[in-house]
Amino acid sequence: IRDLRKTYRTKGRPEVHAVRGFDLEVDSGELVGLLGPSGCGKSTTLRMIAGLEDATSGDIRVGSSSVVGLPPQRRNIGVAFENYALYPPLSVSENIAFGLRARGKGDRKKRVADVAHRIGLTDILDATPVGLSSGQKQRVALARAIVRRPDVLLLDEPLSHLDAGQRDTTRRELRHLQQELGYTTILVTHDQEEALSLADRVVVMNDGVVQQVGTPDEIYDDPMNLFVARFVGEPP
Ligand code: ATP
Ligand code: MG
Repeated sequence: IRDLRKTYRTKGRPEVHAVRGFDLEVDSGELVGLLGPSGCGKSTTLRMIAGLEDATSGDIRVGSSSVVGLPPQRRNIGVAFENYALYPPLSVSENIAFGLRARGKGDRKKRVADVAHRIGLTDILDATPVGLSSGQKQRVALARAIVRRPDVLLLDEPLSHLDAGQRDTTRRELRHLQQELGYTTILVTHDQEEALSLADRVVVMNDGVVQQVGTPDEIYDDPMNLFVARFVGEPP
């Protein structure tokens, strides 16, 4: 990602410079945690990578090819975002399988069952989203992103609605799946502990700008400036 920028322009309102020159190189199979306070531009960055929002300028490459201008479905990027976007008329298993339509039915079922088992959704596969708790919906969204085995996985606060116990279990399973299937992952969180415990490297962002990129140890032991030191040191 090179010099990515986003300016929101709404008529009659001042411009919002949400992302002001974001640079990052993520290795294949790496899990990067994107950490920063509310409003610093994390979701905007992820939405631009996913193609859900046009970048004002900058380049995004997956492998050797630029994905700028491609529609989301042609980027081979799996997303699980805050506002789940599950399809109410479909069951949980149909929601997870959505987008796997081209594959054989048996294979599809097996993959859905495998992911559901790992994330603890087996019991509610036949339910519809309407009656689910927000934590359950969140796990369905996560399962749907993972089951497609995309090149890149983008997760925006994927564990925020889970209770402490579920969060621990899901975090571990997510890490397992990510390593086993080799996903290149960017995970947004404003939970310092989550980023530091889960990620290979952490990006600390503030006010639309990357403040520091490093391993959890580097960020924790050797913060580059006062903002990073304070933010990482704070209890969540
Ligand atoms: P949070 O942790 O609360 O989710 P965030 O880091 O994800 O915050 P963004 O949602 O990317 O932050 O927002 C970055 C800035 O852009 C904020 O000032 C926000 O108000 C603004 N913003 C986001 N979406 C829009 C939009 N559609 N139109 C105008 N401004 C927007
Ligand atoms: Mg956000």
